[in-house]
Amino acid sequence: MALTSSQLLEEVKKSIKEVTPDDVRRGLQSGDIQHVIDVRERDEVMDGYIPGAHLIPRGFLELNVEEDVSMDRSESIALYCAGGNRSALAARDLIAMGYSNVSSMIGGIKGWKDAGLKIQTGGLLTEEDMQRYSRHLILPEVGEQGQQKLLQGKVLLIGAGGLGCPTALYLAAAGIGKIGLVDADVVDKSNLQRQVLFGESDVGRPKVEVARERLLDLNPGIEIVAHHDLMTSHNAFDIMADYDIIVNGCDNFPTRYLVNDAAVLTGKPVVDGSIFRFEGQATVYDSAAGGPCYRCLYPEPPPPGEVPSCSEGGVLGVLPGTIGLVQATEVVKLVLGKGEPLVGRMLLYDALDMKFRELKLRRNAECPVCGDAPTVKELIDYDIFCGLPGHSEAAG
Ligand SMILES: [Zn+2]
Repeated sequence: MALTSSQLLEEVKKSIKEVTPDDVRRGLQSGDIQHVIDVRERDEVMDGYIPGAHLIPRGFLELNVEEDVSMDRSESIALYCAGGNRSALAARDLIAMGYSNVSSMIGGIKGWKDAGLKIQTGGLLTEEDMQRYSRHLILPEVGEQGQQKLLQGKVLLIGAGGLGCPTALYLAAAGIGKIGLVDADVVDKSNLQRQVLFGESDVGRPKVEVARERLLDLNPGIEIVAHHDLMTSHNAFDIMADYDIIVNGCDNFPTRYLVNDAAVLTGKPVVDGSIFRFEGQATVYDSAAGGPCYRCLYPEPPPPGEVPSCSEGGVLGVLPGTIGLVQATEVVKLVLGKGEPLVGRMLLYDALDMKFRELKLRRNAECPVCGDAPTVKELIDYDIFCGLPGHSEAAG
């Protein structure tokens, strides 16, 4: 028997349960309706949907309903679309799958809006984002929600050098929504051996400006803020205020202590990395999470005369790539809230032996900034000097 579409719809609507928008509102309030599913296409949903609705386009409904909504065939589900036709057909198909308590909302989202009921907008990935981040979206640990968290992430990179370059590239690619870069340097030819954001034609230009262009080319959907400045006690709080996570890739001790103290005082985690010759290390200082800070390990800087200068040590060009990407990985984990962060653990890497080791780090109750009786209560500008004896350093 041949049916026109309107005849089919008429038949289907007779065989399923239809409810009004007000029924759905009341059902959601009382708990009689456990799930609402919006079966429209993504571009239609962008303009708004019923708060709390599952968003599953009609074409994926049967495939995804068990995983995204419920395995339990007796739970009550209300379906809606733009005007009430697609959801009626969808209801018929869920019933065929054995769902026994399914309804279709008359009038769809238009009816819902006309009834003056509340809709939710925003927080959805665009079609463009769905393509760009598709390899994230198919990971259950990330998914659309995780990608949204990444896009809302605000991360400040101290230093656009050997560590900052690879970290910035991967964070931008991953879709960290706001990335700040602090660096007062210009690109030097000797940087190109390891600072992978820059090219020959960039020599002489401010690193943060080149970095901004390169990162926006990689991902135009995010915000890159260039701070062409030295971090000091005067601007540190201001610069850090807009960010949730600080990534330290700086190559001098004054900045290292400054960043540590500012982060402890404002309760922000610092994803720290350092490199020297063939060795590197990385950890996450997070005093707000009960972990140690940098001063727990090194309470005070040594006198400037006792340490080698920044450029003396040398560094294997690929080394900052390895450590910078450990830092980028930790940032992504912190933003997603997944996995075990390197809090209270120092990862040590020896490139020549190709070995990773791990040291336990403990909070020091006598730490001058995060200890039980802190003495450092404001930021201090130490004189510029490099490398700490017995501690690898030189990230530039
Ligand atoms: Zn401490």
